[in-house]
Amino acid sequence: MIRRLIWHRRDLRIRDNELYQTNEEVKKIYSIFIFNPQDYHPQSTGISNDDKSEQLYGVTNGPHFTSRLLHAVHSLKRNLQSMGGDLLVRTGNPVDIIPQITKELQIDEVVWSETPGYYEYVQSEKMKKKLLEEVQCNIYTTCSLTLAHPKDLPTDQIVWQTLARPKEKRKKKKSKATKQQLSNNNQAVETINYFGVTATTTNISPSRFVGMPQIMGDFRRVARNAVIRDLYNAPNPLHIGIIPEDMDIGAIPPLQSLTQPLLESTRPILGCLPKEIIEQLVKCATDNRPDYSSIDIEEQSHQHLQNFIHHHAATADRALCDVSDNNSSMLSMPLALGILSPQQVYHYIKQHQEKMASPDDINWLISHMEMRDFFIYDSLRNGPAAYQLVPMKQPVHKADDKREWLPLSQHQDGFIRWASGKTGLPMVDAGMRELITTGYTSNRVRQNMASVLTKDLKLDWRLGAEFFQLCLADHCVAANYGNWAYFAGVGGDSKSRHFRTVSQSNRYDPEGRYVRKWIKQLQDVKEVEAILRPWDFMADWGVPIVPPTTQITWNDKEKLERSGRISIFILHDEDVLSSQSS
Ligand SMILES: Cc1cc2nc3c(=O)[nH]c(=O)nc-3n(C[C@H](O)[C@H](O)[C@H](O)COP(=O)(O)OP(=O)(O)OC[C@H]3O[C@@H](n4cnc5c(N)ncnc54)[C@H](O)[C@@H]3O)c2cc1C
Repeated sequence: MIRRLIWHRRDLRIRDNELYQTNEEVKKIYSIFIFNPQDYHPQSTGISNDDKSEQLYGVTNGPHFTSRLLHAVHSLKRNLQSMGGDLLVRTGNPVDIIPQITKELQIDEVVWSETPGYYEYVQSEKMKKKLLEEVQCNIYTTCSLTLAHPKDLPTDQIVWQTLARPKEKRKKKKSKATKQQLSNNNQAVETINYFGVTATTTNISPSRFVGMPQIMGDFRRVARNAVIRDLYNAPNPLHIGIIPEDMDIGAIPPLQSLTQPLLESTRPILGCLPKEIIEQLVKCATDNRPDYSSIDIEEQSHQHLQNFIHHHAATADRALCDVSDNNSSMLSMPLALGILSPQQVYHYIKQHQEKMASPDDINWLISHMEMRDFFIYDSLRNGPAAYQLVPMKQPVHKADDKREWLPLSQHQDGFIRWASGKTGLPMVDAGMRELITTGYTSNRVRQNMASVLTKDLKLDWRLGAEFFQLCLADHCVAANYGNWAYFAGVGGDSKSRHFRTVSQSNRYDPEGRYVRKWIKQLQDVKEVEAILRPWDFMADWGVPIVPPTTQITWNDKEKLERSGRISIFILHDEDVLSSQSS
C-alpha cells in the first residue's frame, strides 16, 4: 500500500487533478500547501536601478493575487474535509518542510505539478534532489498547467520544425512518422533510480524545449498535433488519508500577515514606488476580499465557465477597454491558480460546440488557451534568460535588441506617474486605477500600458512586468513576462507595436464610459472629445507625460485638423449619446 503526499502549487483543485488518480497500489493520499515567506517578502528582482549599483526589489505574490490564492486554499481544504481528509498547511521553505512531513506520515511517494517560472523550476529541482538523496522517497511530477501536456510535445528539433512548417514539401512525408514519435518520446520524461527509489518526472528543463519554434503561430501549429488529454476522475474519498490526530494540520495564514512584509518593507519597492500605492493595493485587496469560509471557488469557477460559454462567449468583444460586462471570460485567475485546468475549459467548449448553431464563434477561447501555452512553454524554454533585458539570443526584430532601455534612475518621475495612474493619458490612468483597485484590467488596456512604458517612456520593460506582478490577481510569471517582452519587442515572435492611446480609446472605449468609470475627474464630463483629450478642454488637467500628438494616429490627426474632433460621439446625458454625423 503506497502512501502519497501531494504538494499543491498552482493546481489548487480537486477535480481533473492527475495527482489524485490512484491505482491498485496507492491507497492513501495526503495533501499539503506551503506558504513560502520568500514569496511575500521583497526580494531582489535582478533589475538594477542604474549602473549595476542598486538592485530593485519586488514581491513574487502581490496582495490581490495572495487574496485569491488564500481563497483557493480555503476551498481546497474544505473540499478535502468533505471527503473525510484535510489539507496540511505550513509556512516555510517547501524544500525543508516536505521531507519532514514525508517522514512524519511515512510517505512512499511525493508528487507535484510543475509551474512556470525559473525560480519555481529551481525549487522543484532542489526538492527532487533532497527527497531522493536525503529522504529516499519516490517522486512523480507532471505539468497540469498547460493545455498540451509537455509529454505530448516533440522533443526532436526536426519534428518541431516539420510540424511547424508542414508545407515544406520534403518534410511532409516525415510528419506522419513524427506523429508516432510524438506519442512515446522518452526524453519528455526523466526516470532516475536511486538506491531503490524512483523519480519519474516530467522534463521541463530549458534544454527539453530546444527546437521549439520562436514564432507563436508555428508553436500553435505543432501543439495542435498533441491530443488534448481527457479529464481525470474526481478523487475516490476512500483513498483520501485522514491526518493523524497528534499531527498539527496547520492554519491558513490571514491575508494581513502575508501582506504585512510589503507594508513594513524598509526598501522602496521597485526602487521608488510611493508607499501610498502599496498601502492602496493592500487596502483594496483586503476590502475586496471574498468570504473565504463559505464560497467554494472551485465550484464557483466551474459555474462561471459554464455560464460564460453558454451565454456570452459567442458574442464577447474582447478588444474593448472595459470587458467587465461579460466581454471577456475572466478565466485568467482560476487558470493561473490551477483552480480550473485548461483541459476543463477545452472539453467544456467542445461539448457545448456540438449543440451550437455556429460552433466556431467560441473557438477563440481555445486559441487563447493555445496562446497561453505558447507563453508558458516559451518561459520554460528561456529559463533564466526570460528575465533578461533581451531574453532571446536572436530576437525576431533585429532592431529591437539594439534599442536603448532607460534605467529607472534616468526616468524615476515617469515611472512613478505611470504606476500611480497620473500620466495624464486618460485610458492608461483609468487602467492603472482599475488594476490597483481590483487586480485586473483588460488585455487591451494592459497592452496600452505596456506601450506607454516601453515605447514612450523607453523604460526597462521589466519594471512594468514587476509592477504587474505586484498588482495582478491573475499573475502568471510566464504570461506576464512573456507579454511584456512580446510588446516591448524583445521576446520570441515579438511585436514592435506602438499603441496610440488616444486613438485606442476612441476605438475601444468610444463613449468614454471606461475612462469615466475610473477617473473621478472625468466622470461627469459630457463631451466625449474632452474625455479623449482633457488637456485641450480642462485647465486643471495638467500636462500629459508625453506629447499628446504621439498618442494619436495620423488618421485621427487628419480628422482632428479637418473637423476639430476625433470622436463622432457627444454625450447629452447619462445614457443618451448622439453621433456628430446625426
Ligand atoms: C503586459 C501584459 C501582461 C499580462 N500578464 C498576464 C498575467 O500575468 N496572467 C495572465 O493570465 N494573463 C496575462 N496577460 C494576458 C491577458 O491580458 C489576460 O490573460 C487576459 O486579459 C485575462 O482576461 P480574461 O481571462 O478575461 O481573458 P480572455 O480574453 O477571456 O482569454 C481567455 C484566457 O486565455 C488566456 N489568455 C488570453 N490572452 C492571453 C495572452 N495575451 N497571453 C497569455 N494568455 C492569454 C488567459 O488565460 C485568459 O484567461 C497579460 C497581457 C499583457 C499585455
